This record gives sequence, C-alpha cells and structure tokens, in this order.
Amino acid sequence: MLTDQDRIFTNLYGMHDRTLKGAQSRGHWDGTAKILQNGRDWIVDQMKASGLRGRGGAGFPTGLKWSFMPKESDGRPAYLVVNADESEPGTCKDREIMRHDPHTLVEGCLIASFAMNAHACYIYIRGEYIREKEALQNAIDEAYEAGLVGRNACGSGYDFDLYLHHGAGAYICGEETALIESLEGKKGMPRMKPPFPAGAGLYGCPTTVNNVESIAVVPTILRRGADWFAGIGRANNSGTKVYAISGHVNNPCVVEDAMGISFEELIETHCGGIRGGWENLKAVIPGGSSVPCVTGANIRDAIMDFDGLRECGSSLGTAAVIVMDNSTDIIKAIWRLSKFYKHESCGQCTPCREGTGWMMRVMDRLVKGEAEIEEIDMLLDVTKQVEGHTICALGDAAAWPIQGLIKNFRGEIEDRIKVQKNGRGSAVAAE
Ligand code: SF4
Repeated sequence: MLTDQDRIFTNLYGMHDRTLKGAQSRGHWDGTAKILQNGRDWIVDQMKASGLRGRGGAGFPTGLKWSFMPKESDGRPAYLVVNADESEPGTCKDREIMRHDPHTLVEGCLIASFAMNAHACYIYIRGEYIREKEALQNAIDEAYEAGLVGRNACGSGYDFDLYLHHGAGAYICGEETALIESLEGKKGMPRMKPPFPAGAGLYGCPTTVNNVESIAVVPTILRRGADWFAGIGRANNSGTKVYAISGHVNNPCVVEDAMGISFEELIETHCGGIRGGWENLKAVIPGGSSVPCVTGANIRDAIMDFDGLRECGSSLGTAAVIVMDNSTDIIKAIWRLSKFYKHESCGQCTPCREGTGWMMRVMDRLVKGEAEIEEIDMLLDVTKQVEGHTICALGDAAAWPIQGLIKNFRGEIEDRIKVQKNGRGSAVAAE
C-alpha cells in the first residue's frame, strides 16, 4: 500500500486549499525553473526512466511518446494537448485532480510542453465538467499572474501559453484525433492514422496528446526522481495510480495507490469491502466500461496493473473499477453499455455505425431472453468483425464488454433464453 509521503495528489478530496498558495505549501511549483534548466533531453530521459505509462487507458510509455516529437522545428510550432475529456462510463479520476489539485496539472503542462518544445498547450475538458473548468481556469489565471506561465515562464526564459478549451459533451472527442478535430472547430470525428499526431496533429503541426493524470504526475516525478517512481509497483507497471471505484462496494471512492496493489487489498483498504461480503461479488469491470468484465472469483487476487489485469482477461484501462454484486442483472448492465456505444458512434465507418446498433438490438433481446441460443455465437462473431476493423477504438470498446459477458456469463444468458422459452416466468426487461 502507498504511504502518504509517496502520494502525488495531496488534495484529491478537496480538504485543503487548492489555490496557488495552498499548492505551493504542499510542494508544488517548487524548483520548476531548475527542472527546466536541466534541458529537454534530460526531462524526456527521466520520464522514460520513470517507466510512466499513459494513464488514459492505452498505457503507452509517456517518455517514449514525447521522444517522437521532432527534435528541431521545421518551422511549424509544436503543441501539447491534454485530454481532459474523461467520458468513459465509470471514469471519474481526472475530475478530482482538476477540481481539487489543479496546479499539479498546470505545472505538468509547462514542463511537458517545454520537453517537447511546445510553446502552447491546450487542455480539452469535457463539456459536462463545469466546476472543474472553473477550478482549472482559476489555477491557470493564478499561474499567469504569478509569472509561472506566460512570457518567461518561471523566469526560465521560455514563453509558454496555456489554454483551456471546453468540449460539448461528445464521448468520441476523447479519442485523440477526434479531440484535435474538435479543437480545430470541426465535428469531432477521428482521423485515419497515419499520419500520427506527432507528425501532423493540431493544425497539421507536431502534437502530443496526453491524459490529465499522465501530465499531472510529471512535476513530482522530476522532483523526487525517476527511480522513486520506478520503484513503486512492478517492473513495466510502475508508479502510483489514481483508481476510481464505483458500484457495489461499501464506500465508492477515488484513491491514489501503488500500481500492483491487489484487487482485494484495494477494495478492503479503501472501499470498506464488497457490499454483502466477498461471496456476494458477481462481476467487475476493472478499467472503465470499454474493457471486458471478469467474474468476481477471477479478479479477487488479481494485481491491479497493466500486466496483472491482462493476465486476468481484461485491462487496466483508466483504472475505473465498476463493482457489481449478485443483485446485478449482468446482461442488462452490458446491454446498457452497448446502448451507450451505439449512441456515441460517430458513424464514419460501417462496422461501427451498423455493428454497434446491431449488437445493441441483439443485446436487447438477450436481456429479455427473447432469442435463440445460436444467436449468442452469432453475436460473438459480430463483435469479432467489428473489433479491429474500424478507424478508432470505439468499435473495440463496443465489442469487448459483450465478449467479456459471453465468455464469463454464457450460462446466465442461456438460462434466460430457456426460461423464456419454457414460459417459466420472464426476465427483467430492458427499458
Ligand atoms: Fe466513428 Fe466508430 Fe469509426 Fe470510431 S470506430 S471513427 S466512432 S464510426
């Protein structure tokens, strides 16, 4: 378990002063100019050595991603874009950072932008995050007034501007290229890759898109040292992580702990256990709604990091842990996610546009048990045809929850169909 001294976010619950003064009293903005003096290469090397992997879901090594940006400008400006869209159902970790500890992000934006030779950074915040936007904008204004960002940021000689852009509430704008399109004032539709944003991103210029948490942890890593961060958790899965646990636990919460904590320890230590005890645990979606669900028995001893959850048949994703006890109609729960992805598909590619609706309609019948047993395999087959055949990962996000359901709860789906056929009562209907 993580000790208090090793926590990066010291005001996650808003118990302390979130203004610049408060942030500084907790050690933020300490020696920022000195960090910049070490130079761009040093910062990128430190980030590589820290082992930080992107906290937005994909888990790509952050330092490596930064190193893809051009070393020398070809005349085009470079940009850092921070993805604060956080729209994945179940995910609510970045909002705590932005509304209670916003200076971690503002300082991170400066350092990360400097490392990539970006003189401007855009934070794209989710449309529904009104209070978070206000808190973050206040922090940005304070940083400008104190000379920490803007011209000659922190007295480093580096000019840096930070802009906060408010989205309009579309899930797909959390996809990095759709986010860039939206920032440019267009419809938020994902772009084909390549070119990747590091080559041609915002306004056709080299761009790196990083998640809020990935950027907010940067200053502390550089202050405390890459070895410190790399020493927490397991090899290739290092550092601290903000977990968001919701659903049928006694105390749902957002908490920062070490990567590599077991699921059981996470739930027992921070959430007061499973509602009704461990025997009552049915299923868990461990990384935000797009990753496959796993059975309670399977996840109890799982290690909550990238490799641990892959071995468990799922993924760490955004570390948004959705816990479901035996009172859950798991078929209906996954149907609801299918409905969400169908609604949020941008419609650009056929497998996603048609497939998400098709999958949702079959799921609708499975909830009621009004289907044939063979349709379960047919549905599985369709998820495979959608997965990996679309421009962006929304197709995968729609397919994986259904695959997890069929893999782990096929018996329950079949039972419901049989009950419906035999006329022995009806299942809970989709609404
Ligand atoms: Fe749009 Fe879906 Fe294609 Fe992504 S996968 S580009 S959301 S249609």
